Amino acid sequence: MIHYTCDLCGARLDGEDQRFVVKIEVYASADEQSPSFPDDPDQLDYEIEQLTESLADADADEVEDATYRGFRFDLCRRCHNRYLSDPLFRAAKKRMGFSEN
Ligand SMILES: [Zn+2]
Repeated sequence: MIHYTCDLCGARLDGEDQRFVVKIEVYASADEQSPSFPDDPDQLDYEIEQLTESLADADADEVEDATYRGFRFDLCRRCHNRYLSDPLFRAAKKRMGFSEN
């Protein structure tokens, strides 16, 4: 049997404890993923060549990190309630004295 622990507080989540799953996806918005293509075919060839070169030089993990990141966490009921009340840690950030900019 698989045993889960809460990724925030470390509490062990056994069969009768309810486990909550948080999935977070971070990716560039669709607007930024659709580049505008130049009308001039030579310019388009040039841009494709540049893009191909830059992708060939880039580390595959870096490219993926820059375009998409997915996270999955298991939470206990208590941490789930806390997480839902402040999913972007805004209140926690304020409490720690970070400025809002
Ligand atoms: Zn917890």
